[in-house]
Amino acid sequence: MTSPSSEPPVIQLSAVGYTYSGPPPVQALRPTDLVIRRGEHVAITGPSGSGKSTLLNLLGLLDRPTQGKLEIDGIDLGHASERDRAAVRARHIGFVFQSFHLLPHRSAIENVMLAFVYADVPRRRRYAEAMSALGGVGLARKAHALPTELSGGERQRVAIARALVNRPSLLLCDEPTGNLDTTSTKELTDLLGGLHGQGATLLVITHNPVVAAQAQRQIRIRDGCLSEQGPALPHDPEMLRDQRDPWTQEDPGAHFGEQNGGSHARPGV
Ligand code: ADP
Ligand code: MG
Repeated sequence: MTSPSSEPPVIQLSAVGYTYSGPPPVQALRPTDLVIRRGEHVAITGPSGSGKSTLLNLLGLLDRPTQGKLEIDGIDLGHASERDRAAVRARHIGFVFQSFHLLPHRSAIENVMLAFVYADVPRRRRYAEAMSALGGVGLARKAHALPTELSGGERQRVAIARALVNRPSLLLCDEPTGNLDTTSTKELTDLLGGLHGQGATLLVITHNPVVAAQAQRQIRIRDGCLSEQGPALPHDPEMLRDQRDPWTQEDPGAHFGEQNGGSHARPGV
């Protein structure tokens, strides 16, 4: 069960499954084994309704498996209290979402500092650590800008700084480029690649084949079943089969809606 370096995996799923109770019950994730080791960069792709969000919610400790065993950094969370799970979540996991989830009336650095709420960083160190995290994503000079004064790509970089400020074991990204144009997507992909190069462990759910192809491991999910793929090329026909338009995510209308009042603007189509 231990890795060659005798370090526990960042993530270990042993026969983990999830069934929504319904009625009727929906088995959204079939019993799954999955090991993600420190420093890996893993992409998860799959069509709408295949179980991506269900898996992300389990890995992010937002939901509990209805069967099987989930360990994060060797910690078995099966019988942990909500309070302990929240503590593990705060210290071990950084989240990046498609729609950034920044507070609109707080500056970039204030948004990053909010991540300290559940963590152990003393107040006097928080500003410096948040500034350092913003520097790490190339945004130190915009630390005092409001989200509305930042581009989409810059907002997502603030969200990444916020996710990283507690030095999590795992960065969980849910469609991180889903609201970004081509240029910002390239910048964000480069940033994720750089983080991986520095040793970060990344799990990225994405519909964008180019973003997925950057990961060293490709996992497909279909009908709640995971399957490991070989390294994929950006134009791998298997990946493109479900994604005729890589810019379109699974919930048409939910994307770009924030910026465009629900109109359906999509770059490049
Ligand atoms: P994805 O993120 O890949 O689109 P989900 O994980 O959201 O897929 O959904 C997987 C399956 O679980 C789908 O069949 C979906 O309809 C079902 N599902 C998702 N959320 C719920 C819920 N709260 N209650 C019942 N079924 C759900
Ligand atoms: Mg989803």
